[in-house]
Order: sequence, then C-alpha cells, then structure tokens
Amino acid sequence: MANVKLTYEEQLDAMKRFIDEGDDFLVVSHVNPDGDAISSTTAVGWLLSSLGKSYTMMNEDACPQKFQFLWRAADIKRASDADGKKKYRYVIAVDCADYQRFGEVSACFADDVRIANIDHHQTNDHYGDVQLIRPDAAATAEILYDLLNRFSITWTEEIATCIYTGLLTDTGGFRFSNTSPRVMNIASQLLSCGVKANELAEQLLERMTKAHVKLLQRALSTLTFNADETVCWLSVSLADMREANAKNEDLEGLVQYPRNIEGVDVGILFKEVRQDVYKVSLRSGGRADVSEIAQRFGGGGHARAAGCTVEGKLEDIIRAVVAEAEKGLKANDSI
Ligand code: 5GP
Ligand code: MN
Repeated sequence: MANVKLTYEEQLDAMKRFIDEGDDFLVVSHVNPDGDAISSTTAVGWLLSSLGKSYTMMNEDACPQKFQFLWRAADIKRASDADGKKKYRYVIAVDCADYQRFGEVSACFADDVRIANIDHHQTNDHYGDVQLIRPDAAATAEILYDLLNRFSITWTEEIATCIYTGLLTDTGGFRFSNTSPRVMNIASQLLSCGVKANELAEQLLERMTKAHVKLLQRALSTLTFNADETVCWLSVSLADMREANAKNEDLEGLVQYPRNIEGVDVGILFKEVRQDVYKVSLRSGGRADVSEIAQRFGGGGHARAAGCTVEGKLEDIIRAVVAEAEKGLKANDSI
C-alpha cells in the first residue's frame, strides 16, 4: 500500500524509478490472458529491451494464437515451463487486479520480491510495492502509453501496435463506454506511427475460428432468460469444448450474444472449467455494476465486464448468480 495516495503523475515517476533501478525483471499478467494482458506484457518487455534491461515475460496460460503476431509474444513463457529454481526479485504485473490472478506464475517470485502493479481495474486491491493504477483508463495499455512517454523512447510501429491492440480489444473495437476522447487521441497518434488499423480490426475483431462458430452453435441452444427477460445466459460444457475442438480463446465474444439482445441488461456465460467448477463471465448494458456481482462470488473486473469462478452444480450457480444480477438491477431501479 506504499503509494496509494500519490497522484497519477507521481505514480508514473515512481514506476519509472522502479524500472530504472531494477534489472532481471519478470513481466506477468493475469491467467487466461486477453488482448490487453498480452499487449501490456509485450509493451513492458519492449520497454525493458530498449533500456537494455534483462527480462522474462511469463503467464500461467499460453498466448492466444491471434495475439502471437505482437512483438516477441512468442517469447512469453508458460509458468509450467519455468526453471523451478530461478526466482525473480523484480516483478512488473500488468492488467492484473489481485495477487491470485497471477496463478502459478507467483511460484517464480523471490522471497524478497518487489512487485510493481500497473492496472486499470476498479477492483484492483493495491497489492505490491509500487502502484500505477488508473481505473478510468480504458486499458492497461493506455497507462503504458503514458509510462513509455516518461522514457526517451522512439515510437516504432512494433510498440505502437502493442499499445493499439490493448486499446482496440479492451474497448471492443472503440465501441464500449470506455472509448474516451483521450483513447481516440492516443489511437490517432499510434496510427501516425504506422499501425495498420484495418489489418488489426480484421485479425482481432472480425476473424472467427471454426471452433468458435461450432461453440456458438452449441451455446445458443442453451440460451435462457429470467422471468422479465432482463438477464440472459448461455452455458458451455467441457463436452462442448471437446466436440468443437475448442480452446479457451475460442470462447471470446460468446457472452456478447445474450448481452446484445434487446431488453437484456445483464448477459452471462457459464463455462465449465472442470467437474462442478464454472467460470462465470458477466456483461452489463450499464444498469447493473457487474463487478459488484462478481465480487460477491470472489471475482472482480469492471462495471460492464466482470468475472468469477464458482464451485457447485450448474443449476445452483445459475440460480445464485442470476438472483444477484436481478438484485443489482433492482438496486439501480430505485436510484
Ligand atoms: P472475462 O469475462 O472476459 O473473463 O473477464 C471480464 C473482466 O473481468 C476482465 O476485466 C477480467 O480481468 C475480469 N475478471 C474475470 N474473471 C475474474 C476473476 O476471477 N477475478 C477478478 N478479479 N477479475 C476477473
Ligand atoms: Mn485490461
């Protein structure tokens, strides 16, 4: 909780000092990494590389195929492949709201580790020794844009593409409510550095894997509404994943289907992780704060996109989560 009360500018300075003073860094992000997590990991790797620092990028899970084109994304190690003996004293965590979200990567932290926490989740619990947290940033990549400008770097297409990808994916293609004038301004500067907006949109937003479409086919057959049709959900079982030959990354975007239906305020996806354990993804149209709902089940996230992992039978979990979503909507009705 070292510098929670610092201004954003002071936090940027403190983070620059942390990077200037350290070496042999471990750069980490959350399990099951999304576009912002991978972009932010590679952007910090790029910065460290340009400063001549030694570093390792690591995640519990594999980098999704569609982000492999990013600068040295192929170098992001999986925690399971790490040398068990090597421990890191300097850790830079990006886009990661709490310590648990590192997953197995935390086994590589030294006993006297110093952790830098760079994030934009409103549910960030301020873990670590140095914090750079801005909940009104659209993406962690937006914060990294400011951090990069604290160093005398030359913007290249590679680093600009990393930052742009984080912005593009966390704003849903510059469509969500976090698409601020500032985001568009930064995006505009990045385009001037040679970012190929059309190619990235095609690759990251439009292109679908066959496994995704097969999952969609199955998931839509589970579509269910609550009584007043303000909450709608889908579920995906392990058998569905197997039959569609799908990986976790093929699930991306499925939760938008219930959320986008007219009249629906909260869309939910229940994904079986293993027997009697479900990953719950929540999306809100704005009337309910789904991060509050996710937090009630030990998860977190943002007001309009949040998640948690819950143990139990699917029917019981659906009943409990839908009831909380309905409560969340009622609470806001009375305002
Ligand atoms: P998704 O549903 O796409 O996995 O996640 C949506 C948002 O919620 C992301 O910002 C993600 O970081 C956050 N989130 C998802 N699952 C969890 C969780 O178990 N714990 C926390 N703290 N945040 C989560
Ligand atoms: Mn993010």
